[in-house]
This record gives sequence, structure tokens and C-alpha cells, in this order.
Amino acid sequence: MATLEIKDLHVSVAADETSKEILKGVDLTIKAGETHAIMGPNGSGKSTLSYAVAGHPKYRVTSGSVLLDGEDVLEMSVDERARAGLFLAMQYPVEVPGVSMSNFLRTAATAVRGEAPALRHWVKEVKAAMGDLDIDPAFAERSVNEGFSGGEKKRHEILQLGLLRPKIAILDETDSGLDVDALRVVSQGVNRYRESGEVGVMLITHYTRILKYIKPDFVHVFAGGRVVESGGPELADLLESEGYVKYTGNQEAAA
Ligand code: ADP
Ligand code: MG
Ligand code: MG
Repeated sequence: MATLEIKDLHVSVAADETSKEILKGVDLTIKAGETHAIMGPNGSGKSTLSYAVAGHPKYRVTSGSVLLDGEDVLEMSVDERARAGLFLAMQYPVEVPGVSMSNFLRTAATAVRGEAPALRHWVKEVKAAMGDLDIDPAFAERSVNEGFSGGEKKRHEILQLGLLRPKIAILDETDSGLDVDALRVVSQGVNRYRESGEVGVMLITHYTRILKYIKPDFVHVFAGGRVVESGGPELADLLESEGYVKYTGNQEAAA
């Protein structure tokens, strides 16, 4: 059973010559089979948390620890983190011109699985996964994220999720820029994968909308670079009606 343990994590971001502390002691434990919603106002450090766990070079861990099944994640390279079973779907997915989706996915699967999937099986696997997400087959030959609409990028992320089968998936603002139909398809994709019970999901979101489709087991309020309150799904309902003002004391940030 996979467990991601984040303990008293402090992270600074290097901006020009200055360094600013963004995460101020994050504590969070996610186990396989659980879905944790991380909810908080803009600028509270939610994306910084996902980047730090994924190993983005701009985000410097100054203290605290991140363990995956007891292994020190912070000592791992970005590739090693992926092989260990961590998956980050980024809030702003990058474009990779000249690399087709199918090649990109096979390379990623090879890195994670430790061997290249047999081509015939792989083609079938990708086709089935794309069908599940209502993705046009022509999509496989397009360059990664190039000219993709917001909805296409998100479907691509969930396609990766299903094909790479990580132990812990971090989904950052998966709901942003999706219309209701795309949101439903993307959520169904996440739920299909969740049903295996083999993945722990950290679902980062500003709005409660996606939680109607992907039901969390735990909800954490994130403010000022820390988890300030934790509870069950009822906490999301409270945030829906009252916003974040209680945690920020700031009317604007609660909007
Ligand atoms: P959230 O995802 O909750 O909206 P972020 O983690 O994106 O919050 O940002 C938290 C704070 O850290 C913000 O004040 C933001 O400006 C700052 N920050 C995040 N990333 C960078 C960066 N690469 N360079 C400079 N400042 C950053
Ligand atoms: Mg601390
Ligand atoms: Mg963010």
C-alpha cells in the first residue's frame, strides 16, 4: 500500500536574487485508495506544493521531508520520482513541438515501467484509453500539447494517468478551463482509475465544482503556505457557502 508522507515541509522559491518562503510547514499524508482535496485561495502555495514534491528546480526545500513508502523523495531526481510512482499533472502543461503524443506516452511509460511496452499491446492500450476519454484517434499523431485546447490538455493528463498508473497522483487545477461536458469526461477518467484502489490522489483546486464529480475522502484547507484545517467532504460544502475568508481574513482572497 503506497503512502506519501509530507512532514513540516518548508519551501522557498527563487525569484531573481531574492528568495521567498512560500510553504511554511506543510503536513499531509496520502495513502493509496484515498483522495485528498487541497483547497485554498489563489497564491496560498498549492501549486508550489505540487512542484516541490515533483522536484521542480525552482522550488527549494529548506526543511522538512517527503517520503514515499519510507523512501526519501527529496533525494530522487525527477525521473526517479516518476519511476517510484509519483505523477504530477501540471496546472500549465508544457508544449513539446515535434514529439507526437503516441511517442511521448510510450517514452513516459518506458521510463516508469522500466521497459518499453510491446508495440502491439501498447497501440491497443492507448487506443482503448483514448476511447474511454472520448479522445479523437488523430490526437495520437499531434505534437504534445501544441495547439491543444484547455480541455484537450486535461484529457491528455488523464490519459497519462491511466497509462502510467502511478501510486500517487497530484492533479493541480484539473478543473480549470473545462466546460461541464469535459469536466465530466475528465472526472470519469480519474474515477475509473481510482476504482482500482491502487492510487492515492491529491486533488488541488480553488473551486468546489470538481468535487461534485470526484468525491474526496478528505478535504484540507490550504492558506498561507500550510494546511490550516482538515476534515471530510462536509468541509468542502462549508467552503462553498462561506469561502476562504475565515482563513485569510481578507474579503478579496475569499472571492
Ligand atoms: P496557488 O497555486 O495556491 O495559487 P502558488 O504556489 O502558485 O499558489 O503561488 C504561491 C506564491 O508563490 C505566490 O505569491 C506566487 O507569486 C509565488 N510563486 C510561485 N511560484 C513562483 C515562481 N516560480 N517565481 C516567483 N514567485 C512564485
Ligand atoms: Mg515548521
Ligand atoms: Mg496554483
